[in-house]
Amino acid sequence: MTIKTIIEPFRIKSVEPITLTTREQRADILKDAHFNLFNISSDDVIIDLLTDSGTAAMSSAQWAAIMEGDESYAGSRSFLFFCESIRKLMPFKHIIPTHQGRAAERILAKIVAADGVRIPNNTHFDTTRANFEDQGCIADNLVIAEGLSPIHEHPFKGNMDLAALESYLAVYNEHIPFVMLTITNNAGGGQPVSMANIRAVKALCGKSGKPLFLDACRFAENAYFIKQRESGYQDKSITTIVKEMFSYADGMTMSAKKDPFGNIGGWLALNDDALAEQCRNQLVITEGFPTYGGLAGRDLAALAVGVQEAVDEDYLAYRIRTIEYLGHALQALDIPIVSPVGGHAVFVDAKAWLPHIPALEYPGQALAIALYEIGGIRSCEIGSVMFASKDENGTEVAAPMELVRLAMPRRVYTQSHVDYVIECFAELAKSKESIKGCQITWQPERLRHFTAHFLQG
Ligand SMILES: *Cc1c(COP(=O)(O)O)cnc(C)c1O
Repeated sequence: MTIKTIIEPFRIKSVEPITLTTREQRADILKDAHFNLFNISSDDVIIDLLTDSGTAAMSSAQWAAIMEGDESYAGSRSFLFFCESIRKLMPFKHIIPTHQGRAAERILAKIVAADGVRIPNNTHFDTTRANFEDQGCIADNLVIAEGLSPIHEHPFKGNMDLAALESYLAVYNEHIPFVMLTITNNAGGGQPVSMANIRAVKALCGKSGKPLFLDACRFAENAYFIKQRESGYQDKSITTIVKEMFSYADGMTMSAKKDPFGNIGGWLALNDDALAEQCRNQLVITEGFPTYGGLAGRDLAALAVGVQEAVDEDYLAYRIRTIEYLGHALQALDIPIVSPVGGHAVFVDAKAWLPHIPALEYPGQALAIALYEIGGIRSCEIGSVMFASKDENGTEVAAPMELVRLAMPRRVYTQSHVDYVIECFAELAKSKESIKGCQITWQPERLRHFTAHFLQG
């Protein structure tokens, strides 16, 4: 007999108290925050599932590395430690530290920007798209059709549409500096990309002489999905799988606030000497000297340790199982979610679950508010509040999906925290018809989801 329970593979050495609030207190807090969860103090949140970015718990080994950090301006030994650790998995010639992922993207966008430049990706993350567009480039998404459908089951919904990429490379050839592939596909629900797809994308890049860059924030979660779902990989170690993934890449951008357990950090890595030289020239203008980028020596040291912890198979089994456990429990309550569940979050389909709320009364926001009121759970609307557009008359047009994202910070919450979230959903389900839609009473010109004011009912 083997024991099947997957436990949190760590002991808790340092704790951060959670302040428990009552439902009445939370009703008042919501009013004061104009029903926008970004306006709520984290002290008033019981379970914070707003994002998995920068919210990880560092290990005791990472905290020890913080004390060992070398703050020398040039040639810091923490930088050497950082590079050595990364190269064990991602053997790039040049590794350029940045303060977070978007700084790496900005540098890359800046050096390739020219009239008519186009960057294909399975799905550009919002900051990636914003950085390319800000430099006047065109950012195109070429994910497979299944990746756009919340209910379509597919083991690798993050895959690039190879036929679409092939014709794209033929049509726009001279306008494309490189191809990007985001692993896992964050904007598409944390969905993985298969090894076969990475290999095939690389082959297409090779045929047209284009480098392949990985946006690799969740490389370890992606590798775990390959091990679980792709034939031929069951008996390979995560490290072997990660090395193979990166053997097809000519460069990468990275947010170390995701898989490597950083509270801050990122990097840009590549093999091309001339391109690396240009990147470093940009780096010194906005980030810093090439051996620290936008980071303190202690951050580099903590990340060097975190990168290796990210590929620990027992950790990944617990990590991926946590998300799956939450997703399956919600499905058992007949709550529609994006399926299969991805690597870092469960996405609830609020439009399908609350059909009595019209899209322009923001069912996702209404659900996020209700979840906070019932249990102090902070989630994130990813629907029309975030992505509505305007037609030619200036009338608001709803986004294609009304989702609520429950993103799981790494190593922060235990199973009983997740059980609590599930019970809150079960309670909401009993009277979901009484959840009321909302309206926006004030909004800024851009990125309104961060600061808009709402009224409910
Ligand atoms: C978070 C993220 C980024 C941006 O990284 P930051 O560290 O937040 O600047 C880029 N791409 C993907 C896929 C991400 O998830």
